[in-house]
Amino acid sequence: MARISDISKIISILLKKYKLEIPWNKSNYSLFEILISVILSQRTYWRNAQLALKRFRSKFRSLRELSLASEEEIAEIIRPAGLYKIKARRIKMIASALLKEYEGALDWVLRLSCEKAREELMKLAGIGPKTADVFLMIARGEKIIPIDTHIFRIMRRLGIASAEDNYESLKKKLEEHVSPELRPKLHFILIKFGRNICKARNPKCSDCPIAIYCDWFKNQQR
Ligand code: SF4
Repeated sequence: MARISDISKIISILLKKYKLEIPWNKSNYSLFEILISVILSQRTYWRNAQLALKRFRSKFRSLRELSLASEEEIAEIIRPAGLYKIKARRIKMIASALLKEYEGALDWVLRLSCEKAREELMKLAGIGPKTADVFLMIARGEKIIPIDTHIFRIMRRLGIASAEDNYESLKKKLEEHVSPELRPKLHFILIKFGRNICKARNPKCSDCPIAIYCDWFKNQQR
C-alpha cells in the first residue's frame, strides 16, 4: 500500500517516464477566457477544448454579448468540447452571475488572497471547487492541487485516498506532502497518466511504472 509519504517518489517516477504537458498559456487569454477554457476542458482532450475556445472567441467578443446569447447558441458554438449542453448552461450561469455581482469584471480575483478569491468564485453559480482551483492555478500561478476524477481514482487505487476522503480532504492531504513547485505538475501528470495508463476501465497495469506502490494492483495478484 502506498503511503502519503511516498507521493513525492511516485510523482518523480511519473515525471521521468512521461512528458509533462501544460496546456494553458495564460498570456494568450483574458481572465474570462481562462475561466471559459477551464470549463471547456472538463472531461475532454485539450485539442477539443482549444477548438471550442477558438469558436467561442470568434463568436463572443464580450461578456455582454455572451449574456444575450441563448444556451442553445452557446452549446452549438462549443460543441467540439463535448458535454456541450451542460457546459453551455454553466457558461451562461457564470456570465450572468459575473454581470450581476461584479458588472462583468473578473480582475478582483487577482487582488484578493487566494483563499478569499476561491471563496468568492465559489459563490458564483456554476463554479465549484475544482473549477475555482484550476482557474486560480492557471490565472494566478497558485501552487495548489485541483483534484479531478482521474486524480481521485489513482489515489484510491494506490491506497492514498481513503473511502472517507472528499475533494477538500484529499487536496489538503496531497498539498501537505507535495512541495509547492511540484503541485501543478502533479495535477497535469496525473491527468495524463489517468487518461492513458490508469484508466477507469481496464487500467494498463503491466505498463505501469508505479505498480509497486499500488494496492489495487496487489489485490489483483492474489
Ligand atoms: S498498477 Fe494499475 S491500477 Fe495501479 S496505479 Fe498502475 S495502472 Fe493504476
